[in-house]
Amino acid sequence: MYVPEINRYDTMQYRRSGRSGIQLPLISLGLWHNFGGVDNFENSRAMLHRAFDLGITHFDLANNYGPPPGSAEENFGRILAADLAAYRDELIISTKAGYLMWPGPYGEWGSRKYIIASCDQSLKRMGVEYFDLFYSHRPDPNTPLEETLAALDTLVKQGKALYAGVSSYTGAQFSDSVRIAQQHDWAPITIHQPYYNMLARTIEWDLLPQTERFGAGVIAFAPLASGLLTDKFLNGEVSPTSRAATIWPRQWVAEHSVEERRRILSGLNDIAKQRGQSLAQMAIAWSLRNPAVTSALIGASSVAQLEDNLATVRNLKFSPEELEAIDSDAVEAGINLWKKSSDS
Ligand code: NAP
Repeated sequence: MYVPEINRYDTMQYRRSGRSGIQLPLISLGLWHNFGGVDNFENSRAMLHRAFDLGITHFDLANNYGPPPGSAEENFGRILAADLAAYRDELIISTKAGYLMWPGPYGEWGSRKYIIASCDQSLKRMGVEYFDLFYSHRPDPNTPLEETLAALDTLVKQGKALYAGVSSYTGAQFSDSVRIAQQHDWAPITIHQPYYNMLARTIEWDLLPQTERFGAGVIAFAPLASGLLTDKFLNGEVSPTSRAATIWPRQWVAEHSVEERRRILSGLNDIAKQRGQSLAQMAIAWSLRNPAVTSALIGASSVAQLEDNLATVRNLKFSPEELEAIDSDAVEAGINLWKKSSDS
C-alpha cells in the first residue's frame, strides 16, 4: 500500500497562479507520454508516487494523452483510486479538450458540443467528480471564441471544473478571451499553458505582458524542449523519428544542422556545468526565472529522470552573466530575443 512521504511539502516551493487563489508547485508533472496504455503501468505508478512524495501536487492531462488516446486519463484514474484517493484535496488535476478524440465534426477543436462532451468523458475515464483546471487545448479558428469560453464557463458553473484555462493561444487571443469572459461575467481565465523553453521564447514578448496585465498564471510546457535540453542530444544528432524532431521543437531542429545543434546544446551544457547543474536542471530553472511563470510542466519516463529534474529547486538563481551567456547562445541558435521569431 502506498503511503506518501510525511515531509513531502518540505522542499518544493509553490507559486501563485497570477492573482488567483490557486498555487502550483514550481515543477508540475505532465502525462502526455509514458503514462498511456502502451507504457509500463508500474513505471507510471512509481513516477506518480515519487512525484507526490517530492511535493508535486499538480498533474496535467488531456483527453488525447496516451497512446491510445484517453488511456493516460484511465491509468491516472486507476492510480488515483488505488493510491491517492485519500489525498484528492491535496491535488490539482487538470485536463484539456481541443485535439482529435472521436470521428466526425464534433470530435475536436472548440465547439460547445465537443468541450462539454469531452469533459464528461474525461471525468468518467479518471473517475473523479471534478477537475481542478479545465483547458481549451488550442484555439479554434472556426468557432467563435465566445462559444468556447461559454462552454468553459458552463463547466465551472456545473461544478465539473474549478478553474478555466487556455493553452497555446496567442497573446492577442488570450487578451480577447480575458476581456470576453469579463464582459459576460464568465469564469475567468486563471492560467495559460504555452510552449516555452530556451529554444522557444515567443511568449516573452507576445504573451507574458498580457498574462501579467490581466493577473493570470502561466504554466510553461516542455521546458526541456521534449528532451532536446537534456544530455541526450549533446552531439547534435536528433533521430528524425524522435519526439524532439517531430512535434514541438521540430522547427528548431529542422532549421539547424547537426553541427549547429551540437555547438548550441553543448554551449548551454557548459553553462549548466559551471552552475553545478545538468542541462535539464538549468533548463527548468531558466524557465522559472521570471516570476510571471507559475510552474514548469515537465515530462519524464523514469523515477530517476523525475528525481534529477526535481533537484532543480536547489538552485534557481541566475547571475546576470549566466543569463547573458544563455542569451548569447540563444542568439547563436538563431533565436531573435527581441521580436517575433519562428519558434512557435
Ligand atoms: P519536457 O519536460 O520538455 O520533455 C520531457 C522528456 O524529456 C521526457 O519524456 C524524457 O524523454 C526527457 N527527459 C526528462 N527529464 C530528463 C532527464 N533528467 N534526463 C534526460 N532526459 C530527460 O516535456 P514534454 O514531455 O514534451 O511535455 C511535458 C508536459 O507538457 C506534457 O506531459 C503535457 O502535460 C504538457 N504539454 C502540453 C501541450 C499543450 O499543447 N498544452 C503540448 C505538449 C506538452 P524520454 O521520454 O524520451 O525519456
